[in-house]
Amino acid sequence: MTGALPYVDTHLHLSRWWRDIKATGYRPDIDYTLKGLLHEMDAAGIGHAVLIQVNDAPNVWDGLAEARGIVADSAGRLRLVSTVDPTKGAEAVAAQIALWEKTPELAGIKLFPGYNPFYPHDRRLDPVYEYAHRRKIPILIHTGDTMDNWGLVKYTRPIEIDEVAVRFRDVPIVLCHFGNPWIDEAAELVYKNPNVYADISGLLAHPSYPLFDRMIDLCRKRVLEGILMIGSAERVLNGSDWPLIDLKVQVGLVNSLDLPPRDRAAILGGNARRLFGLPEASPVRTGSS
Ligand SMILES: [Zn+2]
Repeated sequence: MTGALPYVDTHLHLSRWWRDIKATGYRPDIDYTLKGLLHEMDAAGIGHAVLIQVNDAPNVWDGLAEARGIVADSAGRLRLVSTVDPTKGAEAVAAQIALWEKTPELAGIKLFPGYNPFYPHDRRLDPVYEYAHRRKIPILIHTGDTMDNWGLVKYTRPIEIDEVAVRFRDVPIVLCHFGNPWIDEAAELVYKNPNVYADISGLLAHPSYPLFDRMIDLCRKRVLEGILMIGSAERVLNGSDWPLIDLKVQVGLVNSLDLPPRDRAAILGGNARRLFGLPEASPVRTGSS
């Protein structure tokens, strides 16, 4: 197959430590490999994607090594986002930063408040925000519902990010999942802070959910409301949270938003290309033959 791959997905995961792919993947027979991912990206028109290291690796070093290997094998299609847990202490944070120093391809840092018990404004994270500033890379922060019921959503309210957004004005911050269910709160953060973005990943339930189609309708309405509250689509990013959501379904959701075509195109690619410094040209299809 040939053709342009104009879109970007800023939020997906591929790891041998992903929890029970048969139950959590959007389809039980999903090809959860790099080859399978590239094939799906090709089919959905996605040229580039951002691979976010998972929070479930036995340690951050092995997790980073795995993600680096996948990105290296992706023929330039994937960008690397690493993670760090400040509750492990100052020495662990410093060790992780030392590791990032030796990771020239690092494209961003993901924080998992809620999955780990810390607030985004935890002072133990100051070296991480300062490092992101030096490297000129964004910090992605989990917001809203946690996939696991042992998570603590008191740590995941978008409003908890306001303070660091102001203190670290030069660091782009992405609110993952648009703060769901607190989308209005996330929209306020994006509206108020010029360095804050939102991705719209992980907003849909598993397709086996009996009211799945109606959920897509509701999601479309709520995302649109959030964008209208911001008054701009400039800092809204397409993301799926694959393997939780079908890449094509996610792209279809954005393409069905009642917005001018240029706004839909910005959400699907232009905004992410600017934020992650991705090339304008679409890569060739590599995942399918
Ligand atoms: Zn995710």
